[in-house]
Amino acid sequence: YSSTIALKNALESIERYNPDINAFISLNDPLVLQEKAKASDLRHSQVQPGKPLSSIDGTTIAIKDNICTSFLPTTCASNMLRGKGAWFFFGSEARIKKTTDFTSPYDATVVKLLNEAGALIIGKTNMDEFGMGSYNVHSAFGPVVNPMGYSKQERRSAGGSSGGSAASVAMKMCTAALGSDTGGSVRMPASYCGLVGFKPTYGRCSRNGLVAYANSLDTIGILAQNVRDCSAVYDIISHHDIRDPTSIPNELRNRLDAQQDALLSKFKGKSGLKGLVVGIPQEFYVDSLSSQVLNVWKRGIQHLRDLGATIKSVSIPHVSLALPAYYIIALAEASSNMSRYDGIRYGYRSSDVDQTDHKLIYEATRTNGFGHEVQRRILLGTHVLTAGTFETLFLPAQKARRLIQSEFNRVFSQTNLLDSHEVNHGDADVLLVPSATSAALNLDDSSKENGGVEEYIDDVMTLPANLAGIPAITVPFKQSENELPIGLQLLGQYGHDTFLLHIAEQMA
Ligand code: GLN
Repeated sequence: YSSTIALKNALESIERYNPDINAFISLNDPLVLQEKAKASDLRHSQVQPGKPLSSIDGTTIAIKDNICTSFLPTTCASNMLRGKGAWFFFGSEARIKKTTDFTSPYDATVVKLLNEAGALIIGKTNMDEFGMGSYNVHSAFGPVVNPMGYSKQERRSAGGSSGGSAASVAMKMCTAALGSDTGGSVRMPASYCGLVGFKPTYGRCSRNGLVAYANSLDTIGILAQNVRDCSAVYDIISHHDIRDPTSIPNELRNRLDAQQDALLSKFKGKSGLKGLVVGIPQEFYVDSLSSQVLNVWKRGIQHLRDLGATIKSVSIPHVSLALPAYYIIALAEASSNMSRYDGIRYGYRSSDVDQTDHKLIYEATRTNGFGHEVQRRILLGTHVLTAGTFETLFLPAQKARRLIQSEFNRVFSQTNLLDSHEVNHGDADVLLVPSATSAALNLDDSSKENGGVEEYIDDVMTLPANLAGIPAITVPFKQSENELPIGLQLLGQYGHDTFLLHIAEQMA
């Protein structure tokens, strides 16, 4: 294995396909990357004494453009954070143009950890503006095209909001990518693009440097071709971080790890899943589930049974409240987070108005800088937080969230250590549900760009894990060669990330 050659292949794929696929917003300097790859190859070589920095030393990784990097701009695919002049420039000249796009003075903790581990950070990926969307059509840089459809000459959505991260991995422009998952933004695109997509437990990976959409739901996630690559990246980025007040403290990490290790010891070193209890929550069987997905779900259940697992029907009675609860909580938090983009502190400022009048600056900047979907969500979120509506919408949504959390706890075999007073009744070690209600949608379906509510409804499969803060991983389930990929999700108890990754690897 040579990272120099792997890098060369990745860069070639970017040069060839990125103009069509639109996965990257900005790219790291190829000359810098080549130097790093060379150094990594030396560390791996037998000839030169030295030691690889980690298991991902020399691996190419892409980063979603809402995760801060000091060496590349961070635009969140929004005109709000774009300045004048294009950054993106790639070709035989391999020069990077000057930009006035917003560039963070620091690296996100996850980026810092990847860099220290010797990863080659190849560039920043396209997304739905500020993470708001499911099909990656709300981007100031245009939609991302799904590589799976592309090979069949169809324009399909890559899924969102981490669509660029998914497309870059699927098109072999990198080995793995970081995304963010607030309500499914890693798992939906992974399912659409035939990849593994992992949303860790809330608090496992630091959010320091992740641009906030909805803080209580945001998690960093990982996309890769297989579970092993995904685990390797997870091991590097899952540490306590003093810079994220919601990062799980080491003391709790130790207790969670002891709990999941005990569970893991039943399966470690053995092939097959004998002794594993898989719960099938019946409420995930919704009307909008396509027959294809239903088929894949059934086959997944049979596959786990063949591997020796016990299948049990379980119930999360209030999971139907997840969708309204999510869109109330997420948009309330978003409306507050978006208030920092005022034209004074970051990125874009409208110059069309009197520059001595702050109110005019705010208004013109926010009207021109935010896309339609973001504006809609700021309005909805603000509404939810107004007096009166706060009591009739926001508080009930918080209660529904709590209810869903405790219902998950009731089906899992292990206690949620965050909630130790909660008595446990279930016996499911993991749950198996679809990752999306259908395979990748047609990109040219213009109703999607107008932000129809289908886009919100399409998240029903993924939102519950975010509300409960539990880990979830989607694994591609091949239909026939000609059909688009579909993913199935495994959900685990709070903190059982390594356990979940192990089960996913057996299942894949
Ligand atoms: N589609 C969901 C939303 O638009 C989830 C997005 C995300 O996870 N960032 O809110």
